[in-house]
Amino acid sequence: MRIETLGKMHEIEINTWTTVAGPCSAETEDQILQTAREIAQFNCQVLRAGIWKPRTRAGSWQGVGEKGLEWMVRAKREVGIAIATEVKDPQTLELALRTGFDILWIGSRNGTNFSLLEEVGRQTTTSHLPIILKRTMGGDLADWLGAAEYILRFNPHVVLCERGISGFPRETRFVLDIQTAKIAQVESKLPVIVDVSHAAGRRDLIEPMARAVRAAGFNGVMVEVHPDPDRAITDAKQQISLKDFGRLMEKLSEIPLCL
Ligand code: PEP
Ligand code: MN
Repeated sequence: MRIETLGKMHEIEINTWTTVAGPCSAETEDQILQTAREIAQFNCQVLRAGIWKPRTRAGSWQGVGEKGLEWMVRAKREVGIAIATEVKDPQTLELALRTGFDILWIGSRNGTNFSLLEEVGRQTTTSHLPIILKRTMGGDLADWLGAAEYILRFNPHVVLCERGISGFPRETRFVLDIQTAKIAQVESKLPVIVDVSHAAGRRDLIEPMARAVRAAGFNGVMVEVHPDPDRAITDAKQQISLKDFGRLMEKLSEIPLCL
């Protein structure tokens, strides 16, 4: 599965190894541009940022909204990096498609929203835009692959994303279930990437978990990166600094691809 962004300038082979990195939430234009420039220098191919945040509580901040779209597009044009964001309903889907995103993702809270899954498939039938489908925090393999089928009926370019499931440990936010993720990869033959940030919920675990993911033959990692992680509006504890991201990329490059 290829992603071409800015003509032929950047071709990304998402079936081999892809790094998707960037802040949990887009907060300011400077934050997005600075992140894009630095992660691109470390050979990261895809910038992620949440523009519309589906939050657990209605009173919480819900993301910057539409103005974040322009910041991402500017990052794409100026840095030449592919851009990805979460779509959470038909309105945000339409806006993201119109703006020129290279990848869309469905968040874990929407993994059973079958009408949205189907609509995402329908709206990308001709473009075949890659869709990252996160596993729900309480879903099993059948739920995850079943959700993928709703998109696959229209668009074959689905990338599965393991992001941790709810479980017993209190020390981490979720439990990284790379076992089921591996079964999903083998059974579905779809690329599978792993979001180590949401699984861990703490930045000290990002590097060891990402190394394990690469060694286990997955197709990439998603990592939350922020220029000033402690001051991030959302998910501050699990985001790593740009400097630490550089170190992570170096460490990962030392591990051969195990596909
Ligand atoms: C995110 O990627 O910022 C996010 C909210 O992830 P998830 O849907 O996996 O909780
Ligand atoms: Mn987040």
